Amino acid sequence: MKTPFVTKEQIEEIVKKYPTPFHIYDEKGIRENARKLKQAFAWNKGYKEFFAVKATPNPFIINILKEEGCGVDCASMQELLMAEACGMKEGDIMFSSNETPEGEFTKCRQLGGYINLDDITLVDFLEKECGVPETIFCRFNPGGVYNVSNGIMDNPGDAKYGMTRPQIAEAFKRLKELGAKNFGIHAFLCSGAVSNDYYPMLAGDLFKLAVELKEETGVDVKYINLSGGVGIPYRPDQEGCDILKIGEGVRKKYQEIIEPAGMEVAIFTELGRFMLAPFGHLIVKAIHEKHTYKEYIGVDACAANLMRPAMYGAYHHLTVLGKENEPKDHVYDVVGNLCENNDKFAIDRELPKIDMGDYICIHDTGAHGFSMGYNYNGMLRSKELLLHSDGSVQLIRRAETAKDYFATFDFCDVMKKVL
Ligand SMILES: *Cc1c(COP(=O)(O)O)cnc(C)c1O
Repeated sequence: MKTPFVTKEQIEEIVKKYPTPFHIYDEKGIRENARKLKQAFAWNKGYKEFFAVKATPNPFIINILKEEGCGVDCASMQELLMAEACGMKEGDIMFSSNETPEGEFTKCRQLGGYINLDDITLVDFLEKECGVPETIFCRFNPGGVYNVSNGIMDNPGDAKYGMTRPQIAEAFKRLKELGAKNFGIHAFLCSGAVSNDYYPMLAGDLFKLAVELKEETGVDVKYINLSGGVGIPYRPDQEGCDILKIGEGVRKKYQEIIEPAGMEVAIFTELGRFMLAPFGHLIVKAIHEKHTYKEYIGVDACAANLMRPAMYGAYHHLTVLGKENEPKDHVYDVVGNLCENNDKFAIDRELPKIDMGDYICIHDTGAHGFSMGYNYNGMLRSKELLLHSDGSVQLIRRAETAKDYFATFDFCDVMKKVL
C-alpha cells in the first residue's frame, strides 16, 4: 500500500494557482528522513551526509537538507556552482566526479570541497592543474559482481568508475609523495539496494581495505565514503530499508575492524534516492483516452518529466487521486505525448476507472525524476513545488517556457520571432 502525501482536495486547491503537470516535494517527510539518517550514524563522530545533487538539483531542497546538517555531493561545474550558491562552505562539498574536465578540481578547491579521484591518472592531472590538497579521496572498484543478499547485487566489474586494488595503493603512495596527509576511500558498488545489508557489507570491505592500505602504504585513512545506493521500495509490496538498522550494521563492522586496528575514521554518505525519492510526486492530469489494441490514458506530462520508466523500465506506482478506495478493475497504459513508444508511465497497470480530468499521482519521483528531464520533441520541463510542513505550497522552480527552449539560439536572427 502506497499513500500519496497529498490528497485530491489539496491538489484541486493547488492547481488553481499552479496547473499540472508538476513535481511536488514534501518538506516534512524530507526533514524527518534526514533526521533519522543522522540518528542512525550519530555514533560516528565525523559522520556527514553529502546529498547527491544530481538527484534533485534545486536550491530550495538543498537548503532544507543543509538545515538538517547535510552537505552536497557534486560531479560537474554546474553542480559546484549550485553548491556555492547554496552557501556550502569548507568541508560541505564532496566532488565525486569522473572523466573530470579541466577547471573543475580548481573550482572545488576554491570552495573548500573534498576531491575524490575516480582514476589513478587523475593524480597527475590534479597535481598539474591545482596541486594535491592535504585531504584527498580515491574511488575504489573491486571488479567482479557485488552480491549483497537475496538477489540484491550489482556489477562493479562492468562499471566505468573507480580504481583497481593495486591502483588505489599506488595512487595513495603517489599522493602522499605529493603532500597529501589525510586519505579517504570511496566506493559505490550497488545501486538502488533495498536491503539493510548493503552499507554494512560495503563498510566492512572498505574498513578492511583501509587497514590494509595503512599497513601497505603508511597513509592515514581518516574517511570512509559509502557513497549512495541505498534504495527505496518503488513497488507497493516491497519493504523499505530500516536506516537505523543500517547504521547499527555499519557500527558493528566498525567495532570489528576499525577499532582493533587503533584507527578512527569518519563515515561519509552521498545518498540521493534515499533522501528524496519517496518525498516527491509527479502530479499529472488525464487528458485523453484511447481504445485501440489496448486501453490508453494520455496525461499532460511525458518521459521528458520523468525518464526512469522509459530509460530503465522502472516501476513507479500510480494513485488516481480521490479513487484510492475504488476497485482496480481496469487495465491501462498511462502514456505521455512523446513520439517515442517507450513514453509510458505505466504498462498494463491495474487501476480504478480513470475519467478525463482525474489527477494521477506518480509516486517516488523526488530523486532522479525532474533532474533527468530533457527537451526531446520540444517538450518543456515542468515546475517544481514545495509542500511546507505547515501545509502551504511554494513554487521552487517555474516551468520552462518556449523562450527557455529557444534561448540557445539568441544569436540567431531567424529565431527572433519565437524569442
Ligand atoms: C548518483 C550518485 C550518488 C547517489 O546515488 P543514489 O542512488 O541516488 O543514492 C552518490 N554518489 C555518486 C558518486 C553518484 O554518482
